[in-house]
Amino acid sequence: IKKIAILTSGGDAPGMNPAIRAVVKDALAKNIEPFLVYEGYKGLHEGKIESAKNINVDKYINRGGTFIFSARYPAFKDPAVRQEAKEQLDKLGIDALVVIGGDGSYHGAQLLHEMGVKTIALPGTIDNDITSSDFTIGYDTALNTIIENIDRIRDTMESHSRAAIVEVMGHGCGDLALYSGLATGAEVIVTNECKISPEEIGRIVKEQTEKGKNSIIVIVSEHIYENIHDVAKIVEKISGKGTRGMALEHLQRGGIPTAAERINSARMGMKAVELISEGKSGLAIGIIKGATVATPILEALKIPRTDRTEKTKKFNKLNQA
Ligand code: ADP
Repeated sequence: IKKIAILTSGGDAPGMNPAIRAVVKDALAKNIEPFLVYEGYKGLHEGKIESAKNINVDKYINRGGTFIFSARYPAFKDPAVRQEAKEQLDKLGIDALVVIGGDGSYHGAQLLHEMGVKTIALPGTIDNDITSSDFTIGYDTALNTIIENIDRIRDTMESHSRAAIVEVMGHGCGDLALYSGLATGAEVIVTNECKISPEEIGRIVKEQTEKGKNSIIVIVSEHIYENIHDVAKIVEKISGKGTRGMALEHLQRGGIPTAAERINSARMGMKAVELISEGKSGLAIGIIKGATVATPILEALKIPRTDRTEKTKKFNKLNQA
C-alpha cells in the first residue's frame, strides 16, 4: 500500500478531527502517502482529493466537527456513481480508503470494498448506535456536553421550582439519554426501550414533587414524542408544577473533543492504518471492553443492540428514590 485516503461522512462528530490526524500521521510514519477527501462520498465522486503530505493536521487535534467536511449524498447508492468515485481514486493511484461515519456510511464503505478498494470503517457519530464498538467517535463529547447543559438547566429549574423536559439526540439509540440521565440524576429517563406517556410523566413529576423534590429533570430521546412543548403542557397540567420543554438539538454535536474522545479516536485511526498496511479490507474498527478490534463491516451492521430496558428501569428507580 503506497497511498491511502480518508473521508468523513454523515453527521459530524467531535473526535473525527483527531481520528483524521492519527490516520494521516500514522500513514506518514509508515511511508504511506495520506490523502484527504473533502465532503464525504460527494467529494470522492467529484474528485475533491488532495495529498495531506504538506498539510498541518496537528492543529485540528482539539477541534470539533470535521475539517475535511461531511456530506449526505444519496447518489452514492447508484453503482455508476460509485464506479466513477472509484476511478477518482484509481487516477491518483490510491489503493485504500478510511471512512469515518455512521451505519449509512458503513454501507457505502462495504460496497467500495466489494469493488476492490481496500476500505476500513471507523464509527463516527454522537449517537453511539454502531454496535461493533462500545463507543463511537463523538459519543463521549456529546454526553459531556449534554451533562454540562442539563446541570445549567437544573440550576434554573431548582431556583424556580420547575420541571424541565429535555430532549436529546440518539437516532433511536437511548445511550445519550440513559447515561446523561444517570450522570445528572434526572428523575425520569425516557428511551425507545422505556417509553411512557406524557400523562405518566406528569404523575411521576407530581409524586416526586410531593416527595420534596424542588426541581425535576426529565430526559427523553429524540423522536419519541412529536412535540416536546406539548408534552410539557400535559405534564404541567397533571403535576401542577411549572414545566418547560426544550430540545438541545445541534448544541450537542460540536465542541472540543474530550480526553477520552481524542484517545479513542487516535487508537482507532492507528488501527485502521495498521490493518491497511497489512492489506486488510472490509473491516469496521471498534473498541470493545478496552481493546481495539476489527469486525467485518457486513457483520458489524448486523450486531444487535444490547437491550437496556432493565438498566433504564434501574437508573429511573435510583433517581426517583
Ligand atoms: P450516517 O453515516 O451517519 O449513518 P447517512 O445514513 O446519511 O449517515 O449516510 C451517509 C452517506 O452514506 C449517505 O449520504 C450516502 O452517501 C452513503 N450511504 C448511505 N447508505 C448507503 C447505501 N445503502 N449504499 C451506498 N451508500 C450509502
